[in-house]
Amino acid sequence: MTFWGPSFDDLQQTDPEIAGVVLDELTRLRSGLQLIASENFTSPAVLAALGSTLSNKYAEGYPGKRYYGGCEVVDVAEELGIARAKELFGADHANLQPHSGASANLAVYGAFLNPGDTVLAMSLPHGGHLTHGTKVSFSGKWFNAVHYGVAQHNEDIDYDQMRDLAREHRPKMIIAGGSAIPRLIDFKAFREVADEVGAILMVDAAHFIGLVAGKAIPSPVPYADVVTFTTHKVLRGPRGGMLVCKAEHAAKLDKAVFPMMQGGPLMHAIAAKAVALKEAATPAYQDYARQVIANSIALTDGLAAEGMRPVTGGTDTHLSLLDLQGIDVTGQQAEARCAAAGIVLNKNAIPYDPQPPSVASGIRVGTPSVTTQGMTEGDMKEIAGLIGRAIKDDDASAAADIRQGVDALVKAHPAYAR
Ligand SMILES: *Cc1c(COP(=O)(O)O)cnc(C)c1O
Repeated sequence: MTFWGPSFDDLQQTDPEIAGVVLDELTRLRSGLQLIASENFTSPAVLAALGSTLSNKYAEGYPGKRYYGGCEVVDVAEELGIARAKELFGADHANLQPHSGASANLAVYGAFLNPGDTVLAMSLPHGGHLTHGTKVSFSGKWFNAVHYGVAQHNEDIDYDQMRDLAREHRPKMIIAGGSAIPRLIDFKAFREVADEVGAILMVDAAHFIGLVAGKAIPSPVPYADVVTFTTHKVLRGPRGGMLVCKAEHAAKLDKAVFPMMQGGPLMHAIAAKAVALKEAATPAYQDYARQVIANSIALTDGLAAEGMRPVTGGTDTHLSLLDLQGIDVTGQQAEARCAAAGIVLNKNAIPYDPQPPSVASGIRVGTPSVTTQGMTEGDMKEIAGLIGRAIKDDDASAAADIRQGVDALVKAHPAYAR
């Protein structure tokens, strides 16, 4: 049996406009520095699974217990993925079906909470996530969300405030994790508070689970009732979500993913998740995870030397937040000036930000993509210098020169080289 898979000619012939978009996007990501902390470049093996005929199969249910016939082949993919996730994370149970990180979170709310119940989570402006109880999300519309933040003195999670709020509001669930937390999280402290008030502890590890998989930072799995995550950030798999949990919650969470929240699973994506989990269990991936952090520290130090203040004073992970107030530039301006030079990053609110989120006083940078390209600490120093010049270049007079520096770096470390 040989592989039957799509070729790019098929797309070009059927739909030249979309084929053009696909080519333009490849050119865009190859020709600039991608420093969005939540992005990465997934492998050819993962992309092959994603672009396979597994996309066609309806497989509502779980392996061995499907609502459709003909699932015996795709069952193997999901079983492999579940076994790999349990092994990699030392977890009792895994569910690979959530379509995204937000869907995984929705399933956890569905499993443990009823509408109106109280949840305690990190506030969005201090680094949380939309699905952690903001008013624009189901989580804040249907549930009573109470938020802890970071302490003003060290800008790290305010564990005292979190404990006090838990004692006062007796939440049914406590969420740890977020999208702009540069430091390690004290999962044990969260567990103790959850036990004291009788709450479920959910860790949203969307951002950092890849660093856990690569054994570069401590794991939340021993402490949490359930850990949700995305598979497309540092973990470097296909776009999607996943959760791992304690055995006692397995049946409840499986039912919440399907049929409570979702219909048929994306079997091509589940197969691709299984591939990514296999890749993440290798020594090469562990080297990668360590290098992501080493690069993040080097990049953050370099940006500090350019006059940008690292929030919390630095980073332990793949991302950092930089406060630009000291150099009199807004996050919005910085994002635009960097984009003009081929450096892709995002503006980001910093804790206690005086600016509205659409302007923001900071930027967020991450190293998963550039590390996948093979860049190391020396390259990070160069990138920091280029960002510094771009951000302070208020009349765009140095843009062409900075662009040359970017070109040299991406030429030396091309993305999707072959
Ligand atoms: C990225 C992220 C999510 C959501 O992931 P999507 O796949 O975009 O839905 C959830 N929680 C946190 C903390 C995230 O960073």
